[in-house]
Amino acid sequence: MKLPGILQFRILKEAIKAVLTGPYTSKFPFKPHIPFDSFRGKPEYSEKDCMGCSACAQVCPAGAITFKDEIKDGKAVRKFVLRHDICIFCGQCQANCPTEKGVVLTKEFDLAVLENRRQLVSKVEKELVLCECCGEVIAPKDQITWVAKRLGPLTFSNASLMLFYLKQMSLSTSDPMPSLKESQLYRADRIRILCPKCRREAILKS
Ligand code: SF4
Ligand code: SF4
Repeated sequence: MKLPGILQFRILKEAIKAVLTGPYTSKFPFKPHIPFDSFRGKPEYSEKDCMGCSACAQVCPAGAITFKDEIKDGKAVRKFVLRHDICIFCGQCQANCPTEKGVVLTKEFDLAVLENRRQLVSKVEKELVLCECCGEVIAPKDQITWVAKRLGPLTFSNASLMLFYLKQMSLSTSDPMPSLKESQLYRADRIRILCPKCRREAILKS
């Protein structure tokens, strides 16, 4: 097959360049391979920077990220599991993470295992805040803190946010209040940490 002149020139140029600078390929697995800077390898959660909002799970096209909320002995946590054996390394989780560092694609690529592929996971757990009235999950503690910090003084226009923030600074009681039923909500209960449904009830009843 006769190649067009311009293509022949390009191939010749690449061949000369490869002779002078060495081959493009690395000697992996005989020598460790260092991927290039924008390489998308194994995604890893960061305990410190993840706030538990679940945006990553919602945008993951492969369904590699799942989470569930667990409430046990009054303690509630949101548990995330990212399965590397399902991940397609698209980077959508990192690109859509509001904190930008909650989940990061590392340069690690050598993930092959012979058995028990379910071991290939990255996990993170986030403590949840529950409604003081009905006990429903409101949001992860770190997410509420993140929102409050971004809102600044506007935090004080929302009773749940304000109370949560004051509790964090030990400026409000941290004693758990007795659980209420919706029918028992009074005007004063508007100043409590409530889910949207109970807040609506409390406002309507007052
Ligand atoms: S903060 Fe980022 S990593 Fe954590 S759950 Fe939200 S999107 Fe996922
Ligand atoms: S890199 Fe893509 S496929 Fe892998 S966990 Fe993130 S969003 Fe899902």
